[in-house]
Amino acid sequence: MKPSEYEIMIAVNTPIGFPHLVCGWPDEEHGITWDNYLSDAIKWVEATEEDEDVPPYKPFDVWKDEVRGQDEERCNLGFSHERCDLCGALAGDRHAVTALPEEQTSRYDYVGLAVCWDCVQFIANGELPDWLEEEA
Ligand SMILES: [Zn+2]
Repeated sequence: MKPSEYEIMIAVNTPIGFPHLVCGWPDEEHGITWDNYLSDAIKWVEATEEDEDVPPYKPFDVWKDEVRGQDEERCNLGFSHERCDLCGALAGDRHAVTALPEEQTSRYDYVGLAVCWDCVQFIANGELPDWLEEEA
């Protein structure tokens, strides 16, 4: 495969209407959501002893930062038997990439992709895989 063919393949496999590829997945994909914040807050309330006032719970922003900090490797999705979503590479380690629409509407819309190391390098740095053939 040549570099131009690789770039075309990435373009063909990029979801239609979601042309912007960025590394990582949004918080939602990792359970960093308002609903999960509320359920943690409820556990906090339930842990209060009878006849005691419920102590204040941490703000949403603080909670989000804490949860994010618990898994710094969250963009590394680990081994998968599925092919790479962008280049079709066979089973291997996968990395999180998000495809964003041309224009962001009020509704936050995206497509979560799982891609190989070569593709995540290409998206992050524009670096082409070194196994590509010379352009003729
Ligand atoms: Zn790939």
